[in-house]
Amino acid sequence: PTASPIDFEANVGRTLIVGATGFIGQFVVDASLASGRLTYVLVRSTSPSAAKAKTIKGSISNENLMKKALKDNQIEVVISVVGGEGILDQLSLRFLPSEFGHDVDRADPVEPGLTMYNDKRKVRRLIEDFGIPYTYICCNSIAAWPYHDNNHPSDVLPPMDQFQIYGDGSVKAYFVDGTDIGKFTVKVVDDARTINKRVHFRPPSNYLNINELANLWERKIQRNLPRVTITEDNLLDAAKENCIPQSTVASFTHDIFIKGCQTNFSVDGPNDVEASTLYPDMPFKTISECFDDFVVKIVDGPVNNMVNIVDNTVSDAVNRLTMTTC
Ligand code: NDP
Repeated sequence: PTASPIDFEANVGRTLIVGATGFIGQFVVDASLASGRLTYVLVRSTSPSAAKAKTIKGSISNENLMKKALKDNQIEVVISVVGGEGILDQLSLRFLPSEFGHDVDRADPVEPGLTMYNDKRKVRRLIEDFGIPYTYICCNSIAAWPYHDNNHPSDVLPPMDQFQIYGDGSVKAYFVDGTDIGKFTVKVVDDARTINKRVHFRPPSNYLNINELANLWERKIQRNLPRVTITEDNLLDAAKENCIPQSTVASFTHDIFIKGCQTNFSVDGPNDVEASTLYPDMPFKTISECFDDFVVKIVDGPVNNMVNIVDNTVSDAVNRLTMTTC
């Protein structure tokens, strides 16, 4: 990789988003377009392209194509949101690498999550060794019920039958809405205070343990649900099954809700900044508001209600099936 200087004083404009068709990527593309910046997306030939952004076809692993695309389109910022199998493909660029979770140098998951974190750590060390300007987005958990076997829990409604509580349910975590992940990521891109920093998303309003999350959901649906304990050993067993991606999610769930990996360190180091402190006038969507959105999906009419409940049940069934056949 080669790094050319970026003029951070200028009003940074042209932004390329890689991984735009992905789960986190769509939030970042929406926020980038909404901010009015000239937005490009890199999509592989098989991918559908994002409607309002300019499309570049190709893979991030194609170094020559990337150099040409960056030069021809005068790209100033690259945001990478590539998914699991693409983590090591991003090394031909300078940028915000695909992090969007925990501070991987501080978190300590068991396998198979450890392998993904070792890849993310490798990307960090290469970026730093090459002197490439970076910002690491440590946005913590997506705002939703934290299912231990689902990569994208905000696609699924919180439970309507019973809660699965990890351990004693007392370990806290931060839950951030997908639109805020996009919004604050695009905000830091123009902010010189975030160069060569880890940006932690720790909105005080969204700092809850799983017991509190369950209580909140019960208040929203005006029903009490039974609680089932998922022990530390249950999570470690699910991780040991090595079914990808469910076991990876189980290993992160263990790290978050048993070991406290999101909260067992302070963010006052020289390379740390915190998003709600950087932007005190920009509110985060609260977890309570996110849960209100889930309630709307449930009560949005009998047909939708059925569809959502059926979707939920089908998704649970598919998860269980994948787990058992893996
Ligand atoms: P997805 O699997 O949903 O999407 C992956 C995207 O990367 C797709 O757009 C895919 O394109 C693209 N991609 C992969 N390889 C390449 C390549 N070589 N060239 C170009 N594009 C490529 O990813 P997620 O949104 O789930 O994950 C993104 C990041 O967010 C990861 O770092 C993940 O760990 C993190 N994450 C964090 C969560 C949280 O709760 N904090 C939750 C989920 C993810 P194509 O359409 O062509 O396949």
